[in-house]
Amino acid sequence: MTLRVLLVEDDRELRATLREALLLEGYQAVTAVSLAEANTIFGQTQLDSNTRAPMFDLVLLDLGLPDGDGEEFLSTVRRRHSTPVIVISARDTDRQKIGLLDAGADDYLVKPFSVGEMLARIRVALRHKGNPLRASVTHYEKAGVHIDLADHRVSRDGQSIHLTPTEFNLLARLVRSAGQVVTHRQLLADVWGQEFIEHTHYLRLYMGQLRAKLEATPAEPQLLLTEPGIGYRLLDADA
Ligand code: CA
Repeated sequence: MTLRVLLVEDDRELRATLREALLLEGYQAVTAVSLAEANTIFGQTQLDSNTRAPMFDLVLLDLGLPDGDGEEFLSTVRRRHSTPVIVISARDTDRQKIGLLDAGADDYLVKPFSVGEMLARIRVALRHKGNPLRASVTHYEKAGVHIDLADHRVSRDGQSIHLTPTEFNLLARLVRSAGQVVTHRQLLADVWGQEFIEHTHYLRLYMGQLRAKLEATPAEPQLLLTEPGIGYRLLDADA
């Protein structure tokens, strides 16, 4: 089945480039150049009349649109659907990125980005589709690191690694979203609890401990990646 992507982007050149890349990759691409057009397309084709399934498998959303802010469209989509939304924007302040991720965006790409990176993020978002926490995910394997959540087992190069319960819970949260950025707030709420969402120093401490145990060179992490000012991302196992 061909996967359908709605691309909302007012920059004509970028729109053409991304559309071309999507088509080459085998996606079906529908484009919108404004908030109004995005709303119309999304509203009209919300559900497939036969299958009752959402008409789009993923949305690529620019924020600076001629008739408003893409963020409005994000809320429109989120109100009714779990369709993954990847924000593409020149805005790169931390506050904006965090706001969008907390508002339900699945990921963001700061312009300029490579087409290869966009396609990789799309694949990850589609795998997570409709199941953002992937409770069913129990394994992670990458660069000699094996993580088995069901058995509470972690090893590196065949050597078993002991993690404290909190270290394990933090790692498990990242494994369930592997490949996707998880904000500080999301990590703190899910691992420590809602009342701890401001305590980002916990995260720095525990991520340091996890890196010391899991990374070949903890000072230059290859798996437990920092998204500066935003949160952390466990490298996608297929990356
Ligand atoms: Ca724009």
